[in-house]
Amino acid sequence: MTDADAPKTDHRPWYRDGLPFSCTQCGHCCRIEGYVWMSQEEIENIADHLGLDVDEFGARYLMRVGKRWSLKEKKNFDCVFWDNGCTVYPVRPTQCRTFPFWPENIRTIDKWLKVVEECPGSGSGREYSFEEIEALKLGIGEAGAPAGGKADSPTEGEEGAS
Ligand code: SF4
Ligand code: SF4
Repeated sequence: MTDADAPKTDHRPWYRDGLPFSCTQCGHCCRIEGYVWMSQEEIENIADHLGLDVDEFGARYLMRVGKRWSLKEKKNFDCVFWDNGCTVYPVRPTQCRTFPFWPENIRTIDKWLKVVEECPGSGSGREYSFEEIEALKLGIGEAGAPAGGKADSPTEGEEGAS
């Protein structure tokens, strides 16, 4: 057997055959304590969508966390834009658009199983291909409605699409 004939090792990650997800629209991920990280571009997009200038938008809807900006939350931890659904859905932040396929959520099977425990839409439904998941990890595409997703800690979401 020559080298060319030898079976090739598949170095792709554990989710190489894809992962299922179909949002049930339960709203859980928009209504828990956590962070929705905002880039400058996302701030400008949502401000524009709401007809506000960036300063006014920031005063109303953003909170400073270290060096970054996150959406404010209400006293009950609902996202400031949650009102029986996402009120900025067409321009929702990348973090929300790509949930649950954040790098930290799919780094290991155990991490994914933790997401499945908390998000009823994860682990069943539409099958996302490996290629789709890799794109979503980079912030490209969307994982279906309403797919919010607050990060639990100030470090989550940093390497992902937030
Ligand atoms: S992404 Fe998951 S937790 Fe969030 S609304 Fe959909 S099913 Fe619920
Ligand atoms: S999708 Fe994002 S912006 Fe919209 S309500 Fe949920 S957490 Fe907030």
